[in-house]
Amino acid sequence: MVRCVSVGDVKIGGGAPVSVQTMGKLPLRRENTEALLSEMRELKTLGCRLIRFAVPDEESLEPLRIICAAAVMPVVADIHFDYRLALGAVKAGVAKIRINPGNIGGEERVAAVLQACADAGVPIRVGINGGSLPVHLRELDKVSAALEAAGEEADILEKYGFRNAVFSLKLSDPQKTVEANRRFRKQWDYPLHIGVTEAGPLIPSVIRSTLAFSTLLNEGIGETVRVSVSGSCRDEVMCGIEILRACGKGGGPRLVSCPKCGRARFDSDNRFAAQVQELLYRCDKPITVAVMGCEVNGPLEAADADIGLTGAGNAILFYKKGRLYKKTDKANALSLLTEEIEKF
Ligand code: SF4
Repeated sequence: MVRCVSVGDVKIGGGAPVSVQTMGKLPLRRENTEALLSEMRELKTLGCRLIRFAVPDEESLEPLRIICAAAVMPVVADIHFDYRLALGAVKAGVAKIRINPGNIGGEERVAAVLQACADAGVPIRVGINGGSLPVHLRELDKVSAALEAAGEEADILEKYGFRNAVFSLKLSDPQKTVEANRRFRKQWDYPLHIGVTEAGPLIPSVIRSTLAFSTLLNEGIGETVRVSVSGSCRDEVMCGIEILRACGKGGGPRLVSCPKCGRARFDSDNRFAAQVQELLYRCDKPITVAVMGCEVNGPLEAADADIGLTGAGNAILFYKKGRLYKKTDKANALSLLTEEIEKF
């Protein structure tokens, strides 16, 4: 059994549901705190469970403290090299630190960070990244180097009796990411944060992440996920949630919409479907809603849905399990759908 690590009120491992997380894009600065807190509230309604912020300097610590005090979800500090920032982040109230003990200097510094984390009950995520593998391992192939680096970090933690840790092994190649995580899981019982690093803009990122996550999650590997997107946190969270749902690891609503063709009498592919998607992201009911472009194939194609919508001119037809039960017009369709979802 994979050990359970508590990050604030979120459990990672130990059979807990797989959680979705993201990383803030704006720097931690005083003037950004309100925007960051408001973004976190929005991300939480979409299903995000954890958020990580880069803490590159001392100036980041005060906004970090403000954010931790007002946060709606556990905050993770991402620190490279500087052990003083790790100590400052623990003091600021973070729920987890991403840091590699092997990178922070001598034994005294490692001991100080691990002691501070142990005293505060703050876990550590050791993040092995294909772009920053240790120099002495660069002769090895990437998968072996990532595993070796993870093993070296785990040995340091174990030497100090610190086991409140999550690991990640992220490479930019999805297959190599799968291989590294599989091999790590054979050796260690730490929970795994899975992700493909430098995965690119939305479309390539979704494809690469889905390939790696679905393989790993179907093998029971991966306790928390982050989809790295050259884009917004919102995209990262929505992609993570959709991938989990597609892999059978997350409940909640599901949108089915047709691709649209020349028969369409209704905007099933663009604005309306996007608005329905938005409604569904804010709901946690296990409801399936289908948006179909026409009444020729729509009702049958939507027959498995709890609520199906098709267009017929300006009229919107509502189906329940394939049977027509309401008719409205475009202007009222969304509010009617909202009511139907509330009643579900
Ligand atoms: S539901 Fe109608 S519009 Fe949509 S793809 Fe099928 S036939 Fe085309």
